[in-house]
Amino acid sequence: MIIAIDGPSGAGKSTVSKAVARRLGFSCLDTGAMYRSIAWQALQDGVSLEDGEALGRIADMHEIGFSHEPGDPLPRRVSISGVDVTDAIRTAEIDRSVSAVAAAPAVRQALVAQQQRIGRAGNYVVEGRDIGTAVFPEAELKVFLTASAAERAHRRVAQNERRGVGSTDYAEVLADIERRDAIDSSRDTSPLKPAPDAVQMDSTGRTIEQVIERICALAQE
Ligand code: C5P
Repeated sequence: MIIAIDGPSGAGKSTVSKAVARRLGFSCLDTGAMYRSIAWQALQDGVSLEDGEALGRIADMHEIGFSHEPGDPLPRRVSISGVDVTDAIRTAEIDRSVSAVAAAPAVRQALVAQQQRIGRAGNYVVEGRDIGTAVFPEAELKVFLTASAAERAHRRVAQNERRGVGSTDYAEVLADIERRDAIDSSRDTSPLKPAPDAVQMDSTGRTIEQVIERICALAQE
């Protein structure tokens, strides 16, 4: 079974996906981390973020891996060609670069194929932007999770403070979220939008716990 959780940056997808996976005994896949890893590799290799073909070659050449901390069933560590980038992909520099990388059709093609291979291997909660529309249009449950930009920025600042990585400046984080929303929603390939059969949930003013409960209930219907 696949549960697709799509939505804009900072809507709470990551927290919700992990909690739902834990409760249902599923694994989970953070597809944003895959686009971030390609952005990291591109910066590392000095590849222009405008060169879609070169970015596509990076996505074809490098294997992205997810691994577990001892005793934790959910994958938390991310690597690209064996280099651990778990923290390195959460910096403000990657926040600024990733949407341009994700807009390259060749990158999307390579990563969607990897995501389908991973997800088809078991029961997965898959979070991203195009999971219900392009990666797993056949998913049994699709959720489109949103919240106001202000609330999303507050949550992202709190998350960055907890992780000790990324910007904790509210104005900077809000500007980045609004800029990424605009790029993600207007790109030609799989723009961010709800699948026609997605359940839409606005988490503004709700606790994350309420959202998790609702998704688990829908999954068990
Ligand atoms: O979810 P997260 O904020 O980590 O995603 C980083 C970026 O990766 C998004 O802003 C978007 O540009 C891209 N992305 C995407 N499709 C996905 C997941 C993420 O285009 N399925």
